[in-house]
Amino acid sequence: MNDVILSMIKLNSSKFFVIIFLFLIFHPKAYSQNYNFHKPISLPLSISAYFGDLRPNHFHMGIDYRVGEGNNLHSIDDGYVARVRVSPYGYGKVVYINHPNGITSVYAHCSQFKGKLDSVVTNAKKNQKNNEIELYLKPNDVPLKKGEIFALSGNTGSSTGPHLHFELRETITDAALNPLLYGLGNIDNFKPTINAIKIYGISKEGFIIPNKSKTYTITNGFLAYGKILELPSNFALMHGRLAFGVSGYDSHSTGACGLYENRISCNNQLIFHSRLDKVGFEETRYINSYKDYSSYKNGSKIHKLFKNKMNQLNTYITNELGGLKVYPCDSIPIEIETIDAYSNSKKLNFSLQIAGGEMDTTKEFFPESMYWIPNRKYQIELKKGMLIIDSLSLYEPLKKSITDNGTSIKIGDLNHAIQSPIIIKLLTTIPSNISIEKYFIGYSDGSKQEYVETTYDKDFLQIKALKFGTYKIICDTTKPNIKIINYTKTNFSGSKKKLIWQISDNESKIKKYDVYINGVWTPANYEYKTKQLDAIYECPSKNVDCIRIEVTDVCGNKQILESEINFR
Ligand SMILES: [Zn+2]
Repeated sequence: MNDVILSMIKLNSSKFFVIIFLFLIFHPKAYSQNYNFHKPISLPLSISAYFGDLRPNHFHMGIDYRVGEGNNLHSIDDGYVARVRVSPYGYGKVVYINHPNGITSVYAHCSQFKGKLDSVVTNAKKNQKNNEIELYLKPNDVPLKKGEIFALSGNTGSSTGPHLHFELRETITDAALNPLLYGLGNIDNFKPTINAIKIYGISKEGFIIPNKSKTYTITNGFLAYGKILELPSNFALMHGRLAFGVSGYDSHSTGACGLYENRISCNNQLIFHSRLDKVGFEETRYINSYKDYSSYKNGSKIHKLFKNKMNQLNTYITNELGGLKVYPCDSIPIEIETIDAYSNSKKLNFSLQIAGGEMDTTKEFFPESMYWIPNRKYQIELKKGMLIIDSLSLYEPLKKSITDNGTSIKIGDLNHAIQSPIIIKLLTTIPSNISIEKYFIGYSDGSKQEYVETTYDKDFLQIKALKFGTYKIICDTTKPNIKIINYTKTNFSGSKKKLIWQISDNESKIKKYDVYINGVWTPANYEYKTKQLDAIYECPSKNVDCIRIEVTDVCGNKQILESEINFR
């Protein structure tokens, strides 16, 4: 601490602390910058994706740092490994470190673990004879010092290239925090850019009214038509309001991110305010209601400056649903402001003018005869089964639409999303020589087919559907495929004695994979996106070694491949 501050404290300490205390309470950004974390990587921080970026079905819950394969990962503070997980999907190899200040740091897509953590994971794999594990550890199992290396960066799980996906979480709630507010980004002074706004007619519940919206492009911070935005009189709704959406981006020194904080004021009065400081995992799926979902499906990222009554997301600062009541001949000054995490702000000012004429007097925008309405439960009989739409399944009213031919059912509209799963039960006639486990319900959006986790209730197949589209019964009696990649009986190509195979399943999905060397279960790694399975061939015997691979799919079809090697 420098002398000036020291003398200030001595002279007037109580007043000084009161000021600091108030500053901390009312200024979360300043409070956050008190943290002095070690960088998670050894390279200068270069960010390719930011907290809150709009993704399918979730906000991006952390930061992606540019880093190649095999770089050291450092604990950002003193702490201990509280959780570690290995999976071919999602975060791949991921480490959760708890710190004494109530924050957990998360490091995903690692290529390998180091030191004590590596031996803890390998022993657990061997004890459980399972390559996919999740461990919750105690503070003394793998303690770490600030800056200590515990893993290497990589590309495991559902990652499309080597990088570090890094998260900060509030340990007690597990909610994800914006790492930029904790000194883990590069401070800049670039203003965000607004490139479009959209106007919506909304019902009193905040639902978007079909065919009552317009998009306006913004060039150099201005509307194409000057400072006035004119709408016909039928945009004035007797039984609804007008609301806004904004799309844009924020440039940083190493890349661009989405919008962080948005405000809209009418007649100098704030009507809606959202900020992406903290998002809980149980609420992140509400992104489908935070963003304009159908625009997103068609390529534009619009943040809605209003919400509907189904939206449970906590990133809103105002409590109201947003939107404003307008009448013919109204002229209303509007200000839309977007602010980044470093307080750089961009404002867009214009006047909203409603032409004279007739208002839209529609009373019921979503007649129950035509729409499934959110907050209601529907149980719908199918030709051979049943469909249950939960009261929390829909974000918006959805036009009723089912095509049912007995074994395949098409439901809903790809421009709508599902929050809480829709249950689909389909009855199937099963030949006596095939067991029910060989059957599952597959999903198709028209282009590709995917497996959906299926449960069985007598002759019914049941799934929890999280997407609209086509579901149909599929029977899988085909074994997975296994192919040797880098060895023959007498030859081996590769480094570190790593044996490599390619495994795949055409109809359903791989559930389990095991490698045995001379009958001993051996830890292996599998990546679904590359279909690669590998294992380290550590202790060659003096004679011929026998390698046995067993791969089972979710329908219980098991493939076995045995090979012998003798390459010393
Ligand atoms: Zn990421």
